[in-house]
Amino acid sequence: AGMKKGIVLKDDWPGYSLDLFTYPEHYHEDIESVYIPHGIITNRVERLAHYIMDDFADNKNIMVLCVLKGGYKFCSDLVEFIKVLGRNSNQYLETRVEFIRLKSYLSVLIVEAIVDTGKTMKALLKHVETFEPKMVKVAGLLVKRVPNMAESLTDYVGFEIPNHFVVGYALDYNEHFRDLNHLCIISKTGKMKYKV
Ligand code: 5GP
Repeated sequence: AGMKKGIVLKDDWPGYSLDLFTYPEHYHEDIESVYIPHGIITNRVERLAHYIMDDFADNKNIMVLCVLKGGYKFCSDLVEFIKVLGRNSNQYLETRVEFIRLKSYLSVLIVEAIVDTGKTMKALLKHVETFEPKMVKVAGLLVKRVPNMAESLTDYVGFEIPNHFVVGYALDYNEHFRDLNHLCIISKTGKMKYKV
């Protein structure tokens, strides 16, 4: 279950009080709580790298497809862990990262920060499959617990979360908050301030 669903955050999880962590001062009034601290994200991403290494054991290389912009932190941390694991074992997997551009015949790992309704991922999978890759897997750092959840689309889930709007760790609200390292819940003030 830990593998398929990831870490399940309950509906009533309020996050940690802001006083308990450090974060950019300019977001002081704009976030409610630290929903998932950066350190926990990193440890979970390391675990996902292990699952991926196991599944891609028969492959010499892997095409990592990073879904921009929100996926760049997750993608970069994930690839780093895959490389460290390779260096420290005899199972080295050459990683190539592409941002949407694709070539055929490779094994593909799609890396997306958040899967909500799954619409975006379904469209992307359809596109990727036209290249007839040998193998396609999807890593989603966050999967939202919504009706008709997109759980089956995602092979590696970092965290399953309730239907909250989260920011940080490269996830934005109108281009703000990408420079926040924790995943946080936006406050009313923050929503107003950065509305377009
Ligand atoms: P879907 O197509 O699965 O409904 O939505 C996926 C896209 O919506 C993500 O790639 C992301 O850009 C955006 N999104 C969905 N939920 C959130 C959220 O809680 N926070 C942020 N920052 N973006 C979200």
